[in-house]
Amino acid sequence: MFGENIDRESAIKRAADLLRSGATLLAETCPVCGSPLLRLVSGEVVCPIHGRVMIAKTESDIAEASILSVLTELEKNISSLLLNYNRRIQKNEVGFEDARDLVYWLDAIERIEKIKRLIQHPTQKKSSKSTPSKQK
Ligand SMILES: [Zn+2]
Repeated sequence: MFGENIDRESAIKRAADLLRSGATLLAETCPVCGSPLLRLVSGEVVCPIHGRVMIAKTESDIAEASILSVLTELEKNISSLLLNYNRRIQKNEVGFEDARDLVYWLDAIERIEKIKRLIQHPTQKKSSKSTPSKQK
């Protein structure tokens, strides 16, 4: 891709600058670009390429972000699998077991969608406390 090397170089430079200013390197990587994430002295977690676009502030936020990207990837792969089934259905090549597998895959997609919704809109849970007391 155009400019990818430059991006990578400046990302490494930025990461080095941040490390010098006291940031720590995390084991987690940016779910978007795969760069190692850094925790600033302020506690913010940033991606050297996306900077503060990566709003994940806690380790659990990072975990949720990576789950989301894995789920999206999984969904994509299942869709291409379904395309395969579709081709075989058109050629009349599917049997009972294929049909059963198909149902499982569709079920998997439904579950993926459900988990994604739960992660993206956690406030939909009615049990949210009215007094936001942040523990530190
Ligand atoms: Zn990134």
